[in-house]
Amino acid sequence: MVRAIVGANWGDEGKGKITDMMSQESDIVIRFQGGANAGHTIVNDYGKFALHTLPSGVFSQRTTNIIGNGVALNIPVLFGELNEVIQRGVPKPKLMISDRAQIVMPYHVLFDQYEEERLGKASFGSTKSGIAPFYSDKYAKIGFQVQELFDEEYLKEKISRVCVQKNILLKHLYNKPEIDEEELFNTLMEYRAMVEPYVADVSLFLNQAIKDGKEILLEGQLGSLKDSDHGIYPMVTSSSTLAAYGAIGAGIPPYEIKKIVTVCKAYSSAVGAGAFVSEIFGEEADELRRRGGDGGEYGATTGRPRRMGWFDCVASKYGCRMQGATDVAFTVLDVLGYLDKIPVCVGYELDGEVTDEFPTTRQLERCKPVLEVLDGWNSDIRGIRSYEELPENCKRYIDFVEQHLGYPITMVSNGPKREDIIYRDSKL
Ligand code: GDP
Repeated sequence: MVRAIVGANWGDEGKGKITDMMSQESDIVIRFQGGANAGHTIVNDYGKFALHTLPSGVFSQRTTNIIGNGVALNIPVLFGELNEVIQRGVPKPKLMISDRAQIVMPYHVLFDQYEEERLGKASFGSTKSGIAPFYSDKYAKIGFQVQELFDEEYLKEKISRVCVQKNILLKHLYNKPEIDEEELFNTLMEYRAMVEPYVADVSLFLNQAIKDGKEILLEGQLGSLKDSDHGIYPMVTSSSTLAAYGAIGAGIPPYEIKKIVTVCKAYSSAVGAGAFVSEIFGEEADELRRRGGDGGEYGATTGRPRRMGWFDCVASKYGCRMQGATDVAFTVLDVLGYLDKIPVCVGYELDGEVTDEFPTTRQLERCKPVLEVLDGWNSDIRGIRSYEELPENCKRYIDFVEQHLGYPITMVSNGPKREDIIYRDSKL
């Protein structure tokens, strides 16, 4: 069976932990979109890991970990990460890289930095990992697929062709050094040596795996609100973050995705610019940020402090709908144990009217949160393993959120570790 794990919000919902948990029972874990611009944090018996590119199944010996064709593949980052996990005692994971995945080129990373510099205050808050220039080139048909590394003559000709265009921009728009074609070719040959043992026809492999009844997990990055079509455009990422794209970014039929586990965090956080209706500020935000996640809400890739807010039912309901959630995993609930009262955003006031449907970006910027305040449970719920044992107010919070989402919360995460999970029968 194919299952997907995706985010309902702005990313950082705790997908890494849920994926790590579910990868225990998976034969195959696939990354299908995005690149090294976001990170999962995983805590397990080997330690705490921030994975940016490796699929989360790398800690399990039975799992084949796949970089799908939809990924922005940063080869040095991937192999840096692979070496790090091995050095830290994890047995060498099984890895496969799609021959159709495209490569993040060194100049993509530079263009990302130069463009953010050029935009100054109007910048997107990019992680400067080269993702936007990478996907621009992919769809402009001047990207480099992994399989092209194996045809040297073709590669040289293509590098020359692409460099003409890139060098004009470098020289005249950014006033920066031009690309040296030979150096770039040599870098790509180094990349080839790294990927060669792992390159495969991934969709063919998956076709067989599906026929054989293997357990397959599609691992999403970021969340619905960062999707390039359905998110808060233009403050989005440059690939689709939706489960539906899993079919394309891995190369499988869409009807094979049977379960879509959509991860929602019990409060909100976001990185980068863009409207964030339930955002909070000052000491209230600082405290939630300090206590949030596992060691505070700071970017796994950049270390930047995340923007904080109360749980947003409007955005999360929309996020679940766009994913097509079959199950909601409600995470990081333990963090809210310090609060006497917990505000929840249940609607948006837009031009004098209240709505609970998520609007388009221009309207979103005019929305004000409509808050309802619930009683907190004032206790530490870590270590609790059964739903019945949760404090009444905590169960009430979960029920309240589930009713507003309209999607079944079947898992509640109450700590960063794999075993900190409570399964629950939905009341919907
Ligand atoms: P991802 O990108 O969606 O995987 O999110 P992150 O890697 O940023 O995960 C969020 C943080 O929350 C990480 O530091 C996790 O270890 C941590 N985390 C995940 N689930 C829980 C939970 O239920 N409780 C607590 N306290 N931390 C959690």
